[in-house]
Amino acid sequence: MSDIEKIRELEASKQALVTELHDATIAEINDGLELLEELGFNYTLATDQKKSAKKRKPSQKTCPVCKFATTPPHDRRHHRTQDEPAPFSQEELAAKSFTRVSDPQSTTHQPTASVSKPSDSQSK
Ligand SMILES: [Zn+2]
Repeated sequence: MSDIEKIRELEASKQALVTELHDATIAEINDGLELLEELGFNYTLATDQKKSAKKRKPSQKTCPVCKFATTPPHDRRHHRTQDEPAPFSQEELAAKSFTRVSDPQSTTHQPTASVSKPSDSQSK
């Protein structure tokens, strides 16, 4: 096998590995993004395409009809089934398996377990 053949072979296996790792990483990131979305944070994974002139509108989280966001997000199109667009009720949300997202600011309260440290108070 000539050197150039070895190099080509290595390049090919490298490419396969890169693709594999890329896909696995994307899957992990998507999982993370879903988790973040559930927490009320809207991130998107984007490649650094400097040439792409496409301007994507940030996906609207808060429905203009309901005035609140849901998980998964919905928008006014989801209100087409209604005679008159009205905010979804709890029952309708449940029927569509949407969960109402409350203000992320107010849900950051985490139940902190009150662990009483044994006389470890720092004196300042
Ligand atoms: Zn709505």
